[in-house]
Amino acid sequence: MALNYSRDVIDRVRESNDIVEVISSHLSLRKSGANFVALCPFHQEKSPSFSVNRSKQIFHCFGCGEGGNVISFVMKFENLTFVEALKELAERGGVQLPSASTGPSEDYSRLYDVNREAAAFFHQQLKEASGSSTVREYVKRRSISDEMLEKFGIGYAPDSWDSLLHHLESKRFSPAEIEKGGLAKRSSKGNLIDTFRQRLIFPILDEKGRVVAFGGRSLGDDGKGPKYLNSPESPIYRKGRLLFGLSRSAEFIRKSKRVLIVEGYMDLLALAQGGILEVVATAGTAFTGYHCRLLKRYAEEMIMVFDGDEAGKKAAERSTITAMENDIRPKVVLLPEGKDPDDIIRDGGAESFNKTLAEAKPYLSYIIDLACRKHDISTPEGKADAIRSLIPELSKISDPIVRAGAVEALSSKTKIPVSRIELSLPRMGKEYTKSEKKSSKGEEDIRSAPPLEKIIIRIMLDHPEIIGGLAEKLKPEDFNSAACRGVFGALSDLALKGGVEVGDLAEQAGDGQFSSHIRSLLLEDSLYEEGSWGKNVEDFMKYLERKNRGKHVTRMVEAAKKQSREEYLNREKDLRNLH
Ligand SMILES: [Zn+2]
Repeated sequence: MALNYSRDVIDRVRESNDIVEVISSHLSLRKSGANFVALCPFHQEKSPSFSVNRSKQIFHCFGCGEGGNVISFVMKFENLTFVEALKELAERGGVQLPSASTGPSEDYSRLYDVNREAAAFFHQQLKEASGSSTVREYVKRRSISDEMLEKFGIGYAPDSWDSLLHHLESKRFSPAEIEKGGLAKRSSKGNLIDTFRQRLIFPILDEKGRVVAFGGRSLGDDGKGPKYLNSPESPIYRKGRLLFGLSRSAEFIRKSKRVLIVEGYMDLLALAQGGILEVVATAGTAFTGYHCRLLKRYAEEMIMVFDGDEAGKKAAERSTITAMENDIRPKVVLLPEGKDPDDIIRDGGAESFNKTLAEAKPYLSYIIDLACRKHDISTPEGKADAIRSLIPELSKISDPIVRAGAVEALSSKTKIPVSRIELSLPRMGKEYTKSEKKSSKGEEDIRSAPPLEKIIIRIMLDHPEIIGGLAEKLKPEDFNSAACRGVFGALSDLALKGGVEVGDLAEQAGDGQFSSHIRSLLLEDSLYEEGSWGKNVEDFMKYLERKNRGKHVTRMVEAAKKQSREEYLNREKDLRNLH
């Protein structure tokens, strides 16, 4: 974690962003005792084990162990670096970050400005294009309505080396700014030329609706350059982070609770024109894990729509694997080969497209089909491979009925009896839920530690000033629970080194070995009465004394037994010697 910011600044950013408010803008939190709970966004679960505590300003998932403070939440949830998350929260909380410490990152307002100006230029060019021009012909052929052209700010990059360049320079943008914004590039001769030439232009907006990049559909029939060209990445445009159309469709996705993911700009446009608005396009990039998490914020259901050709099938496969890795089970639609959403809408309207959607294959049938296509199931080996490749996914299904259905579908495809397939799956029921409940590392869950031991650790966390004293009196072995032993050891080590920042420990994100235990304990309600903590410590000492005294007595008895046996043997020897 490369920190350019002082502790003080980081604290100010944290203090100006209440963790409950920040998280509830992403997840729906429900009050439960002193905490708020929600379904965990970082692992798949059916009952909420993701908890947020306002007074401690931490979050913790009892299911997967993920946790930390508001900054670590934003980092993890939005897939940002520490500095990126800090900046976002600083903006949200109205904290001015010292610019000196921001290093190479700077004010991007000129980059946004130059892209906005370029969008206006392209759009104007399209408006001014004559009806007989290539671009107008294309728009007419694809029957894109004027309303859509306006709504999406679609434009035209003329067949010229430098018309945008000249326009932007006349608006007082420097060549360096234009190049940095991805709007011009160096030619082989070293002079600047327009990036987009003779193309239909789709402005790409970020979540805040700012133009950050462009996608251009080639209009030349000379086959020069790729069919689609995207702006190069820039400080304000990272491809795997953006989805075309999201800023506009977000409200419709929220309303309908579903999102359609299509591949191209034109697909999205065709659907929007047909009145289907809950759509985003990956446009120019693969579907990423970041996209998944982004969409999870808006939609409950994801439907991936792909062309039925080989490329489409490949893209569908890659995208579903990405979704799967992010605990999403999307529905998948493979359009009839040779047809894109545009064709379907044009032939039968939105109604016909909705019909296609209704036939969307649920994720499970889709991956079963996929496995059976990938392996040659006419051979015994192929059947075995197909089934084997599905075991990890099938094992994850916790609903026995869904699982039985999937197994049956697989059985009817491969002609392998259901009972045989079931034998290769881990047993359902207890075993599965148990392994699911264990923390991700398979460590002991500190919540099941002996109550008195938990209380002592919690008291140490609530009153760090006594850690040093207790560290001298107690030994890790005094705790029966391995988790308590570990946390006690870590706390006393820190105390010996001078100073424990319990907050820091609890706020450590994710994998910190003891951080997870600490957060877990901090979130437990009314573990002890605040006024009586002194007495609790005394009780523990007494308990240990008794335990140790017990041990001591056992040791004495053992020693005595040993001694008496030696005495006996000696006496016997003496007696023998007498004879
Ligand atoms: Zn979790």
